[in-house]
Amino acid sequence: CGIFGVIGVSSAANFTALGLHALQHRGQEAGGIVVHDPEQGFNSVRRFGYVRDTFTSQDVMDMLPGTLGIGHVRYSTAGSKGATAIRDVQPFFGEFAMGGAAIAHNGNITNAEALRRELIERGSIFQSSSDSECIIHLMARSLQRNIPERMKDALRRVEGAFSVVAMTRTKLIGVRDPLGVRPLVLGRVGDGWALASETCALDIIGAEFLREVEPGEMVVITEDKVTSHRPFEAKRPRFCIFEHVYFSRPDSILGGQSVYATREAIGRELAKESPVEADLVCPVPDSGTPAAIGYGLESGIPYAMGIIRNQYMGRTFIEPTESIRNMGVRLKLNVNRALIRGKRVILVDDSVVRGTTSRKIKEMILDAGAKEVHFRIASPPTAWPCFYGVDTPQREKLLAATMSEEEMRDHLGVDSLKFISLDGLYRAVGEAKGRDPKAPQYCDACFSGEYPVEPSDQLENGFQL
Ligand code: 5GP
Ligand code: SF4
Ligand code: MG
Repeated sequence: CGIFGVIGVSSAANFTALGLHALQHRGQEAGGIVVHDPEQGFNSVRRFGYVRDTFTSQDVMDMLPGTLGIGHVRYSTAGSKGATAIRDVQPFFGEFAMGGAAIAHNGNITNAEALRRELIERGSIFQSSSDSECIIHLMARSLQRNIPERMKDALRRVEGAFSVVAMTRTKLIGVRDPLGVRPLVLGRVGDGWALASETCALDIIGAEFLREVEPGEMVVITEDKVTSHRPFEAKRPRFCIFEHVYFSRPDSILGGQSVYATREAIGRELAKESPVEADLVCPVPDSGTPAAIGYGLESGIPYAMGIIRNQYMGRTFIEPTESIRNMGVRLKLNVNRALIRGKRVILVDDSVVRGTTSRKIKEMILDAGAKEVHFRIASPPTAWPCFYGVDTPQREKLLAATMSEEEMRDHLGVDSLKFISLDGLYRAVGEAKGRDPKAPQYCDACFSGEYPVEPSDQLENGFQL
């Protein structure tokens, strides 16, 4: 998901809509904005669909007056049961002592089910099935005398990955969990301040990127100043390495590094680790593009656009009929036949999850007359589900959970298939010595199976480590 917040600007809702539009790649299902205005109090609008369709009309924006606001773009992750209901769309707002608060969250709370059970037993009335609502109820029950202190109480009971933006009637609050699994950045916009999942959302509103909110840090922002708090016991950070590979936008800056440059470096590492003779290097657009450019530069094999993406097809496209659904990737991707015919092609993609995309693409490429197809993947085999806010299917559905690399190659029916090594990936993100096996510098659980926070709800539901 994507989160955004702003304080001290002329129209918080307009800035938030822009910020969310820049974060749309982090969630396309639904979006929501909550604002506060001294006369009109809290107001919120939550809608299904793209920000550009839902938060552009004058009547919607007129419902959202105020100079302080937060917003969220949603994509539901593993564990969510069925389709999203509008009541599950964030931000959540709750009125309790001291005026109440609104909150939006990116990540996944790994003990949410246990917390919810406990809260319901003690009388809390839940309005949604979302994890994040637990935080509001925990805040409402805290005995602390101001909202930031109540939030600290609440977040100390929460486990998992959480980057949070929240607001009271006068303050904007940002928090990252102790490991800093998900991103959150702070920017200056005119005389105000902004919080966002990624720097690309600061760029769009003309804000200056000041710094990241640090792992385990809470920033409390009023119109005049930012104060920093440390509510948790200090831990060694474990940022999500997959943000570098896939999730973040290539024009964002993560951990002081350009995501684009990191992805290009991943491609270079791949070319060094797994070279192959070929005529063309082609990305699977768009997620494989920077890595394919890196592979091309390192190997000297020409980079070309062998697959063209239809820009009008989003990820949440709802296929209207069975026959169209069966066309699968064809709706989104098409082979550039004239270029591919008779060539030995290296295809670079960010990840193989179920293997459906790769299999279909291989068929299309061979169909177009390619002589050989070689897959190069910008992440190690995804063998474990993510429980920290990135959508992955159950373990049984992950190709790499049940097959060796050679079996996967066979299953996909390609001439060769190579994944970047975990150490190669660490080198590409800037760890010259690779992964420190005793104290890994990042979260890489979906590749290694080493979960930095115990997925306690999942274990209770029968998941086996
Ligand atoms: P597959 O077809 O192997 O199940 O999915 C892999 C493709 O899905 C990749 O090309 C990747 O760009 C795309 N994808 C979309 N959302 C996600 C996600 O949340 N995680 C991963 N690993 N890949 C995703
Ligand atoms: Fe990121 Fe993978 Fe860790 Fe999930 S399990 S937070 S996708 S590195
Ligand atoms: Mg892709």
